[in-house]
Amino acid sequence: MRKVAFYTFGCKVNQYETENLKILARNAGFEIVPFGKEADLIFINSCAVTHVAERKARRLINLIKNRFPNAKIALAGCYAERLNLSSEKLVLDFVLDNKQKWEFFGGSEDSAFVTSEDRARAILKIQDGCNNFCTYCIVPYLRGRERSKPFDKVMEEAQKLVENGFKEIVLTGIRLGAYGRDLGDKDALSKLLLKLFEMDGLVKIRLSSIEPMDITEGLIKLADHPKLCKHWHIPLQSGDDEILKKMNRRYDTKYFEQIVYKLREKVPDVAITTDIIVGYPEESEENFNNTYLFAERMGFMRIHVFPYSPRPFTPAYKLKPLPYEVITKRKEKLIKLSNDLWERYVSKFIEKELEVMVEERKENLYRGTTDNYIKVEFESNLLLKEGEYIKVRLLKVDNKEEKVWGEVLESKVKVTL
Ligand code: SF4
Repeated sequence: MRKVAFYTFGCKVNQYETENLKILARNAGFEIVPFGKEADLIFINSCAVTHVAERKARRLINLIKNRFPNAKIALAGCYAERLNLSSEKLVLDFVLDNKQKWEFFGGSEDSAFVTSEDRARAILKIQDGCNNFCTYCIVPYLRGRERSKPFDKVMEEAQKLVENGFKEIVLTGIRLGAYGRDLGDKDALSKLLLKLFEMDGLVKIRLSSIEPMDITEGLIKLADHPKLCKHWHIPLQSGDDEILKKMNRRYDTKYFEQIVYKLREKVPDVAITTDIIVGYPEESEENFNNTYLFAERMGFMRIHVFPYSPRPFTPAYKLKPLPYEVITKRKEKLIKLSNDLWERYVSKFIEKELEVMVEERKENLYRGTTDNYIKVEFESNLLLKEGEYIKVRLLKVDNKEEKVWGEVLESKVKVTL
């Protein structure tokens, strides 16, 4: 039997799609082997959101060529799509864009169905594409226009995931909050959540990244539902109105602040994480300082800091980039703020009992994540399974490793179903 190994870069959508591609590959007669083992075909599902993501893929390809000279290499996904749209070439056996990657295994995206078998929680992609065209972003050129998975199909997939034993589902999309808009319903995500809350056996639903302009009143109303994780990832990108406008983000800091305020009013200890781009062309020291102060004031739980990356096809590509040192200095400053804010947030939960989903076990050492996105480690002699929920008291913050130590309250093991 021919062997194939997969490697995934990038977002949750890519992770979901790799799981689907594995099913198609299996149906096409391949045996799936772990990445790093000898294989006839090595399939890379790639990302092109930054030039760094592309560089990582190129490095991996070189490593594979050295280590497995007989293996065929397929580069698929957004980087492949980007290469197909430009004159740049890589010497590879297969370069498969976001449509071709499905056809390669003789199927289509719709013909596979994910089981996310090697994870504690399942990812469910409900949407693809983006119409916003932020000036720095290559995604709309690679993923196309917004399109949503039909409501019934989402429900059917969720039902199957629950039947396969998953208790937690992460809803994801290229622009998750645009779900339903192409089907003529601006509040389809709220309706979908309401339906999913009714599903027996589904304990938690997590939203992946959601754009601030897509957070409707309907969604905010649902924020305190016990089945919805108290974690919202809302990309800010800049905390300066002038830069937001230049980025074509279609909101200002006042609007963003209102969203955060409304969510906190509903769920006081909600974890709000964000993405910020530092060093957008023309970002002055003052613009950056505004971003810094705004992020501090918002009290994000964590900031994912992205140094600006010029992407072909985008309007910002034509602008003169800032010096590398300026971008690096701003990046470091914001990362330091993120670490401080994280510590401030998690410290509030020390001595509190939180429900943790078990994700990993090494002998009697467990790792898991709380509903509000705190990574917890704890020891226990109980035999806990991946995907199980347990009550843990948080004890100590380890800010070097960015995790929290906890202890299991053995008498309070929670059987959730
Ligand atoms: Fe890119 Fe903006 Fe669309 Fe997000 S909303 S995918 S940043 S264009």
